[in-house]
Formats: sequence, structure tokens, C-alpha cells
Amino acid sequence: MEQKRNPYLRDYEEQLRQRREAARRRARRRKILRRRRRAAALLLGLCMVSLACFFVIRDSVKASAAREAGSGSAFPLDDPASWDRSSLVQGLPPQIYNRHPQWTEDFLTPNEYSRPGDALEQVTSIFVHYTANPGTSAAQNRSYFEQQKDTHERSVSAHFIIGYEGEILQCVPLDEIAYAVMTRNQDSVSIECCYLEDDGSFTQETYDSLISLLAWLTDAYDLDTEDILRHYDCGGKKCPLYYTDHPDAWEALKEDVAQYREGL
Ligand SMILES: [Zn+2]
Repeated sequence: MEQKRNPYLRDYEEQLRQRREAARRRARRRKILRRRRRAAALLLGLCMVSLACFFVIRDSVKASAAREAGSGSAFPLDDPASWDRSSLVQGLPPQIYNRHPQWTEDFLTPNEYSRPGDALEQVTSIFVHYTANPGTSAAQNRSYFEQQKDTHERSVSAHFIIGYEGEILQCVPLDEIAYAVMTRNQDSVSIECCYLEDDGSFTQETYDSLISLLAWLTDAYDLDTEDILRHYDCGGKKCPLYYTDHPDAWEALKEDVAQYREGL
């Protein structure tokens, strides 16, 4: 026979059961909420990392594209027409000019005999000379050019003089003509080389500086090594003497320039 239970006890048990059930439901909800929060935080973290990666990659792609174009600034090499001419250095974009080998800038005083100040609009050849005066230094030869403003002896100069110790003096800016090759002053750059030997051969120091200067000049003006000429090649004057007497050494010199350029 079924024993009759105390109704109060039954109500109490029922309430207890309901409370436990409610507590379990609350715990389940909290657990779900915690999981959702963790998932949201993880998603947010992933988004931020992806976004950061995107910006880093985009910036590095932009930077490398700019490097390929040669500037990324105001001087895109493929569009010279857009250059701000007033910001050029001696007629060249700064990013090209700044790569020149070390030299001492010591411009001649403007004068009609050695630095006429006429614009050098284009450069299609680089001429190599020798001073025809063994044992004289770069400074002495520069001084000879400078004196022309007073002596009016000759119209003579060059953009650069390389001394027999390898020092390079710049006498005329690259956006002005020099008086070095009668018929080609308007579209060429000239380099005078000092020397010690009677055969006109250069010291190793002069030679090394000449190679680095020729490499930079041909690169800066987008020229080929065949655009490097002896004074002799334009007018027949035996200048530079050693390289008119030794055409094979001249070919080797151009080969050395080509090799040096590969390392630029
Ligand atoms: Zn010459």
C-alpha cells in the first residue's frame, strides 16, 4: 500500500529541484557566453594580425616598386619630362648624382676661355684625355685652366682632372660645357688624366679612379662603353698618347669599365 507522503515535503523537494535546474541553466548560459566571448576575441585578434600583414606587405610592395622605378620621389627615371628641373643636381636627378665616386669640387671661375657657362643639354660621349705634360698634378692643371681667364692664351678646360695619385678634381659642372674637344663640346663630358711616364701610361691610382668615374658617368647618362672615346677618335690628335699607341689597352680599359659597372 502506497505510503502517503507529506505534501509540504513534496513541495519543498519540487522547489529544490526547480532551483537546481535553474542554477544548471544559468551555468550553461554562462559557459556558452564565455565560449562566445573567447571566439570573438580570437576572431578579432586574427583580423588585426591579417590587417597588419596586409599593410606590411602592401608597403613593401610599394617600396620595391618605387626602387625599381628608380626613385619613388620627384624623379621617376622613366619620365624625365616630369622632373622638377630646379631640383636637379648638375642636371642629374639626386638619386643618380649622389652615387658618383668621391671627387673634390673646385669649379673654375666663369670666364669665356675655360668656363663659358653654356648649357650642356645632352651627353652622348665621354672623352678621355691626357694632359701632355708629364709629372704635373691635377691642381696644377686646374690652375692652368683657371689662368686662361687672365692670359687669354687658349680656350681649354675639362669637366674632370684625375691626378697621378688618383684624386679627382671637378672643374666644370656637368650641366655646363667645357672646352676640350673642338667639335664635340656641346654633347660630351671630358676627363683629363695626369701621368708620370714618358709613354703616357697612367699610374694604377689614376687608372682606378678613371674606371670608377667612367662607370658612373656611362651609367648616369645611360651610355654604352662604346660611347667612351679617346680625344684621338675625334680629330686624330694623339691623346691620350698611351691609348693611341696601344689600342689593345684601350679595349681592355673599356672592358674594365663594363666589369666595374656590373658591381654598381
Ligand atoms: Zn685631349
